[in-house]
This record gives sequence, structure tokens and C-alpha cells, in this order.
Amino acid sequence: MAHKVDLLVVGGGINGAGIARDAAGRGLSVLLCERGDLACATSSSSSKLIHGGLRYLEHYEFKLVAESLAEREVLLKVAAHLVWPARFVMPHVPELRPRWMIRAGLFLYDHLGRLAPALGRGASLPGSGAVRLDAPPYSSGLKPHIRHGFIYSDCRVDDARLVVANAMDARERGVRVLTRSECLSARRQDGAWLADLSNGEQVGAMAIVNASGPWVKTVLNARLSQPSRDAVRLVKGSHIVLPRLYDGEHAFILQNDDRRVIFMIPYGDLHTLVGTTDIPVQDESAPPAVSAEEMAYLCRAINRYLAQPARSEDAVWKYAGVRPLYDDGTDDPSAVTRDYTLRVDDELGRAPVLSVFGGKITTYRRLAEQAMDKLAPYFPAIRPPWTDRCALSGSDFGDATRVEARDAFFASHPHIAEATLRPIFRRHGTHAQAVVGDGDLGEDYGGGLTERELRYLVEHEWAQTAEDVLWRRTKTGLLMTPAQRERVATVLGR
Ligand SMILES: Cc1cc2nc3c(=O)[nH]c(=O)nc-3n(C[C@H](O)[C@H](O)[C@H](O)COP(=O)(O)OP(=O)(O)OC[C@H]3O[C@@H](n4cnc5c(N)ncnc54)[C@H](O)[C@@H]3O)c2cc1C
Repeated sequence: MAHKVDLLVVGGGINGAGIARDAAGRGLSVLLCERGDLACATSSSSSKLIHGGLRYLEHYEFKLVAESLAEREVLLKVAAHLVWPARFVMPHVPELRPRWMIRAGLFLYDHLGRLAPALGRGASLPGSGAVRLDAPPYSSGLKPHIRHGFIYSDCRVDDARLVVANAMDARERGVRVLTRSECLSARRQDGAWLADLSNGEQVGAMAIVNASGPWVKTVLNARLSQPSRDAVRLVKGSHIVLPRLYDGEHAFILQNDDRRVIFMIPYGDLHTLVGTTDIPVQDESAPPAVSAEEMAYLCRAINRYLAQPARSEDAVWKYAGVRPLYDDGTDDPSAVTRDYTLRVDDELGRAPVLSVFGGKITTYRRLAEQAMDKLAPYFPAIRPPWTDRCALSGSDFGDATRVEARDAFFASHPHIAEATLRPIFRRHGTHAQAVVGDGDLGEDYGGGLTERELRYLVEHEWAQTAEDVLWRRTKTGLLMTPAQRERVATVLGR
């Protein structure tokens, strides 16, 4: 007997989770199936920026940049516990890009950011300007001859937790979220879809959303037997995490001599995140890996600027992800559009499948809204868009600011050190109270992870393995010894 829903969402990355939440809020019954863990693929491997993408201006992607900057404002409000502002510093290298070009680019970036008020929202972040890099606060870590630079605003995000927060919010609105459940195949039958999942369930659905990221074309063609003319370009991007390279909370955007830019971003209190690369890949079946050449490339790019050279062997963690970009025919992998395309295929006006090609973490909410607008004609009773004004699960601080809510949380547990509570609040927002409960945190596994939070992640956030907990729901793996990580794996039984 098939479980029946309006919408089956295939893929538990940011786009699948965002679409499931949006659809549920519009009154549809939804099931989301993810073959691995939530955010196990591209959505936990990003540079973790909510940004307009300054460098996309060079590729004339004005519409994408404007839409992304507007989304930056929305996400600052509705995902306030997981998205926060940051200042980005770009040292000036006259032989790579002239001063006038950077000034013009930043002027445009600020201006496009200010277009957001036309949509009813004011740009809340400080604008760009020139800065000295031979004096504090921005000189830390840099070679002394680097004297001039530029500064502008963007935002940072906990990408994997943004996916989990969307899935939790979706569940609160009635969505069934199944992890470790692959969509093996689906066929059209009597004007609807019938899908087989790897957990043995059959699901009947009026529509399918194919949000399988790098696998979008394989799922469409091979699993759903739906021919398509659209193609996806797979471009690998790698990051390394090094012991802190400089002091301060600002990030650096560094020009490389191949005209690409490399980010150095503070990662927790002790580390710096460095990325990324753009390597075309053909085969989405093999898990992406960071190569020795990519590590050397990233170190070379930042060492042009650093007083103390970074070395590949100092990396304490590394990860790679595959961008599922819409194939617009461009040769240069860095220039392929970062915009998205939503394609709907149906059979005689029934049983549609909507496929997501491309996209960014930054634009996921707007993408989800547009996806549901495209499916609306198939669901006459569907409700209007709503996600731009409704806080995400964990970010609903009411009339308080995030800082006020955090301080109230600290005050309600006077016997627990703020250093213990701070990362819990950062990860869980308004759910932090539920995580801490009566304040008995149980065993301390190290790295800021306690027995109590581990139990919460398993019971409420679909975590099953040490990898799910240490490297996605939290980044506590980075702060633990191998023995501490092993202890968590033993407790989880895998
Ligand atoms: C190196 C890099 C840096 C980036 N940096 C940024 C950034 O700073 N800011 C930004 O906005 N964007 C960034 N992006 C882009 C962003 O990460 C992606 O656009 C986004 O994560 C894609 O999400 P998705 O949900 O489409 O795909 P994914 O996250 O890949 O999710 C697809 C999911 O589908 C599942 N799946 C596949 N087949 C099946 C099946 N048959 N059944 C069930 N489940 C299935 C997979 O397991 C996977 O979890 C970056 C990307 C990369 C690679």
C-alpha cells in the first residue's frame, strides 16, 4: 500500500529542504527522501558565505548579484541564528586589477545591495571603502609591504545547519523527512507518480521535485525515465582548514594571478578556512576528494599575501564538494553561471517533475519560492508565498535581538560556563533551551560536545553517525583528539 502525498522531494540538500518547507507552509502534504544524511553532499562543502558574489560582476551576472544581495537581507532576518554579517578585506594588487576597476565593482555592489529597499527591505550592512593594511586591525598576518586595500560587507553561514533547520521547520509543518532513503525509481501511473524508496516504501505523489544536486540529470533520466535537453556542469571546489593565520573576525578575499579569488575566513576561534578551487569533473558517482595539487594551489595563492607562509601539511581538515551548475556552454569553469534553472516536465498536464539545475546556498529560499510558484498550477488550492517573513525554526527570537535572546539563555543557566553555552546557542538558537534541558549535560566528549547535545542531535536532528555529528551538525571534530572522536563513534555504535 503506497504512502500518498502531494509532493515527493528527492534530495535533502539546501534546495530540497527549502522546497519541502515552502511547500508544507503552502498547505501541501510532503515527503522528503535523502539517500544519505541531510547536507551530506554539496550543501555542507561550500565556502559558507551568504553573498552577492562580488566576482560575478566581472561576468556581468547583475541579476544574480542583485537577487543574492536581496536574499542576504532576508536571510539575516529569517535565519538570524545561522547567518551573520562579516567584513571582507581585499588587498590591492595594482598589476592584477586597477584601483578604478575595484572601486567601480564595489560601488556597483553597494548600489545593487541598496536596491533591496525597492523590494521593501533596507540594506542593513555597512558599505564599502578603502582601508590601510599596514596598521591594526587589518594588518595581522599580512606581509608588511601590503599597505592598501578595500573593505566591503557580506555574510557568513553555517551551511549544514541551515539545511537541518529547514528540515526541522518542514517537519514542524507536517513533512515526513526520511534520511538514508534513496529514491530508486519512479514511474507515472494514472496521472500521478509512484516511487520506490530504498527503505522498502512505495510513495504515491501528485508531483516530484528533483533536488538531487550533482545527480539531477541522472535522477531525471535514469530514475524517473524522463528525457531532458538540460545538462549540468560539475565543477569541484576544495577547501582546507589551517591553524589561525591572522587575528580578527574579518575575512580576506585575495586575488590570484589566474584572475580567480581565494577566501581566507576565520573558522571558529582557532582556525582559518581557505578556498576554493574550480576543477571540472565528469563523474558524479565518485565522492570528491581534495588533491595535493589543490592544496598546493591554495597555499601558493595565500602565501603571496601572508608574512608566515602556510604549508599544505599544516592543514588540520579539508573537504571538497561538487557544484551542480547549469550548463550554459561556457568553457571556463569559473565563468559558468551560478544562477539556477528550474525545469518542469509533465505528461498531458499532470504528474509534473520539477528539476533544480544550479543555484547557491544564498538563493535557496527564493529558489524554493519560485519552484512552488511553478508547481502552483498543478495544485489549485495552494497558498501564496510566505517564507520571506517567517523566521526559520531556531531563529524565532520574537521581539528580542539574537544577542538579547542569547544573554537570556546564558542567564537561565548561571551554573554552566558561558564558554559551554555559547556554541550551543550558536548552533541551535531558540532550541538551545531544549538542548540543555535541566542543565545536566552528562559526559563531556571534548570540543564543546556533551552527551546531552549528542542525544538531542540523534533524537531531533536525524544524526546517526559520528560523521553526521562531528563534521556536519557541529564542527566539534575539529577541536577533538582522535581518541575523543573515536569515543563519539563508539557511543553512536558506528
Ligand atoms: C566548493 C563550493 C563552494 C561553494 N560556496 C558557496 C557559498 O559560499 N555560498 C553559496 O551561496 N553557495 C556556495 N556554493 C554552492 C552551494 O553549495 C550549492 O549550490 C548548494 O549546496 C546545492 O544544493 P543542492 O540541494 O542543490 O545539492 P546537494 O547539497 O548536493 O543536495 C542534493 C542531495 O540529493 C541527494 N540525492 C541524490 N540522489 C538521490 C536519490 N536518488 N534519492 C535521494 N536522495 C538523493 C544527495 O545525497 C544530496 O544530499 C558552493 C559550492 C561548492 C561546491
